[in-house]
This record gives sequence, structure tokens and C-alpha cells, in this order.
Amino acid sequence: MKALRFLAAVGTALGALCGAVPVTAQEISVTALQGARLVDGRGGTPLEPATIIVRGEHIVAVGPTDSLPPPAVATVVDLRGKTVIPGLISNHAHVGQTNGTEQGAANYTRENVLRQLRQYEAYGVTTVTSLGVNDASVFYPLRAELRAGKLQGADLFGADHGVGTPTGAPPQAMLKAAPGQIDRPDTPEKARAFVGEQKARGTDLVKVWVDDFNHSLPGKMDPAIWRAVIDEAHKLGLRVAAHIYYLADAKALAEGGVDIIAHGVRDVPVDADFIKVMKDRGTWYIPTLELDEATFIYAQRPAWMSTPFFRNSVQPPLRAQLDSPAWRSKKQADPAVAIAKRNLSMNLKNLKALHDGGVRIGFGTDSGANPLRIPGFSEHRELALMVQAGISPMQAITIATRDAAALLKLDDRGVIAPGKLADIIVLDADPTQDITGTSRILAVWHRGRQVAGPVTSFKP
Ligand SMILES: [Zn+2]
Repeated sequence: MKALRFLAAVGTALGALCGAVPVTAQEISVTALQGARLVDGRGGTPLEPATIIVRGEHIVAVGPTDSLPPPAVATVVDLRGKTVIPGLISNHAHVGQTNGTEQGAANYTRENVLRQLRQYEAYGVTTVTSLGVNDASVFYPLRAELRAGKLQGADLFGADHGVGTPTGAPPQAMLKAAPGQIDRPDTPEKARAFVGEQKARGTDLVKVWVDDFNHSLPGKMDPAIWRAVIDEAHKLGLRVAAHIYYLADAKALAEGGVDIIAHGVRDVPVDADFIKVMKDRGTWYIPTLELDEATFIYAQRPAWMSTPFFRNSVQPPLRAQLDSPAWRSKKQADPAVAIAKRNLSMNLKNLKALHDGGVRIGFGTDSGANPLRIPGFSEHRELALMVQAGISPMQAITIATRDAAALLKLDDRGVIAPGKLADIIVLDADPTQDITGTSRILAVWHRGRQVAGPVTSFKP
């Protein structure tokens, strides 16, 4: 009954699209976004001027402004001179780990996770995948309410607790996770049982950590355990994303059937065998370039650190830290800085080789995993770094929208086209000419509603 009345609201104007029924109610909003340059997420030539007609949460029509007059019931939004792109989709982030300069389980609260998801959304990241270390009691209720459009903030997907090792990755000293926030099996049988529990809670993905954090941890996950995780997950219809650093581990995991390599390979150049197995198996690769940049860049004070776009993404305690000369000089002397610079350089080269080789590339930064990986802001740095790697701005946008949706097997978003969720960023610049144009956010639409205005007025 309700659905019928929704249809009725726009039935006359959009009769061809949703059935000719008389107009009897105005329960659902209809908006025409009119006149913008449309970058629809599919990588083709932008359409300009374009009109996008949004009804409720969804896009119902897209076309040249000349041939798509707005329905009589529509609110018309004039976007002449602007560019629109789909909302960005992160395939690798974490929620509830940090707040200001703090890290640890105390931050996994409903209020803090929502604060982060509203920041992602205001920065145009309308879908976020929290790839492990989730507190299930907070995560699942929030995920449901966000997907139902009942709360403001980015849509949430995730990998439940994730599966690590008893005394190794992911390092507890760094994460300060609560007991049970990460599953750490010591036998393949226990690994299978944990995957079963995650499935029962309704996880979107399964995560494994296969790394020794630059030899700082006592060994890596026993391959018998990650093989059991992959096998059990696949039996249950779930896909597995793996944290890696070394090429040897990434190659073994890809050959072993992992679905998603969740970080860039950073120890050595990728080789033809790895590119072939990734391509042949359709394995996804999320480079997370920004992860290493975040380790060193803030101590270098790049010009963009003085822009409102950056400063508005930084909570006051973190801003004070980043602005402190003492913190900067300590950071510049940190041996981790030189390693991170080498990692980024290798990661950039490897991304280019894998992209050129036809491997499926996803989008993510590992933002939210520690205080320096800033939600929402990081994703725009990632786009810039992808372009620095040699990927065109248009290809980078396509990876961060259409392809990132495909990685999550979501066919309801990622492109601006009829039938898709109306997740749209309005920009005051054309990012296909200069990728930094993605930072010129004038408005963000999520599920058919304008949820944020100019990011220059956002308060973290
Ligand atoms: Zn991560």
C-alpha cells in the first residue's frame, strides 16, 4: 500500500519509468540535479550538461539536460558549471579504533563510530568497509540502521573481528583491542569455528592478517590456518581479504584462493607470476598507498595541510599534535619514516604494474586504523597517489566508485545511472582534469538526500 502511494507521488511525471498512476500524494521527494558535468563512474566521456532525476533514495533517470526536462513535482537544483561524481566507496578502512590522538577499544562506541561515518560521508565517502577489529555488539545494529537510511553517516560493511594469530598480527600493542575483538585461533579447527561464528553474526567478508610487521612480531600466521579460513569461508559463501606486506605471502594467498589482497605489496617489485595469478583468478588488489604516506607526510608540512579541506578533517587534539614542533622533529627522526617512504615508492610502482597487467584494483586507505589515517581526507590523498602512480584521474575515480562497488559485489551503487542509489558528490572543479578537484566538495548526496554541504564548513 505504502509503496503504491510512493509511486503515485511521481506517477504522472515519470509515468514511463514507474507506471502511470494518478498523483494522489507527495510522500517521496523528487529532485532534478540539473546542468552539471556528469562523471558517472564508468570511465566514459563526461556528459555535459546533464540532468539526474532522483526519487527517494534512487536515481530514476539520467540524460542530457536538453532532452530530460524535470518532472513537475521535482525540486530543481541548478548545478551548471559543477561536476558530479558517484560517492566514493572504501574497501579498506576501520571504524571505532581512534578518537583524536587516542587508540583502543574504548573508542568502539556507537557515538564515535557514527561520528567517523558522518565525517566519511561529508568527505564524499558514502560507503565504508571496516576490515576487521569490529565490536559486533556495536557494529551490526549500526550497519542495519545505516543501510535502512535511519541514521546519518556512510553505509557500513565489514569483516567482523577478523582472524589474526595468538601472539602476532595484528599487533595488540598497537591496536589495544578488547578481549574477543579479534579472533586469534591457534589451530585450523578453531579457525573454522571462528569463521562460522562470524558468518552467524552476518559478516560481509572475512579478514586474515598474514604478516610479521617488518619482522617485529614472533612469526606469521601458519598457512594451515589461513588455508582453513579460506576453505571454511568459501564453504559458507563468504570471501576472504588478506592483510599482507610481502610479495611471497601475497602470491601464496592468491594461489591459495584468497579473494582480496587488502594492501599493496611493498617489499619487492611484483613479478609476472603474481600478476598472472591475480589476473587469472580475478583476485582484487587494494593498494592502500596512503597508509605509508600518513606515517611521514604530516611532519613535512605540505601546503595542503593549511587548507580547510585538510584542517576540517582533523579533530582538535590531533591538530594540536600535528602542529607541535616537538612532535614534528620527533617524527622526522623516527626510523619508521624512511621505511614508510620506501614502502610508498614500491607500492606506487607495483600498483602501476598490476593495473597495466589487467588486475582488478579496489579502493581503500586503511583509514581509521590509527589516528594519523584520517577518515574521509585519506581517501582523497589515495586518489592523488593513484594518479601519481600513473593511473589517469578518470581511471582512479572509476576504481574508487564502480570498481570498489564491484569488489563488494554491490550492484546498487558505484555509478550514476537509473536504478542506483543516489550517492553523489557535487564538485566545484573537474577532477578528470586535475584529481585534486575531488577536494572541492560543494555538497554530498547520500541515498537521495543532501547530507552535507561544502566540506570547507565541516567540523570534525
Ligand atoms: Zn586495515
